[in-house]
Amino acid sequence: MNRIIVNEDLCIGCKICFKSCFIDVIKWDDEKRKPVIKYPEECVQCGFCEINCPKRALKMEPDYDAYMFPRNNIFEMD
Ligand code: SF4
Ligand code: SF4
Repeated sequence: MNRIIVNEDLCIGCKICFKSCFIDVIKWDDEKRKPVIKYPEECVQCGFCEINCPKRALKMEPDYDAYMFPRNNIFEMD
């Protein structure tokens, strides 16, 4: 499964990651003013949350093994 990791020490609670995610992977905790990674299984690996975080406090780690195509089918070029 994809992993979205938040370093809460670096996070300034700007909410940009929450606004960047056009799916509902990232929810928002109003009390703590921190993102909540709610549905990581729905992440499409667009990277918007990570790219837009002004503090580099969030990292999206794609699950490469979950790709649709089996990588052992990739043939080698001469
Ligand atoms: S964009 Fe970065 S700094 Fe802003 S709330 Fe999200 S994780 Fe925190
Ligand atoms: S990588 Fe894209 S889909 Fe995944 S949590 Fe970030 S903004 Fe949402």
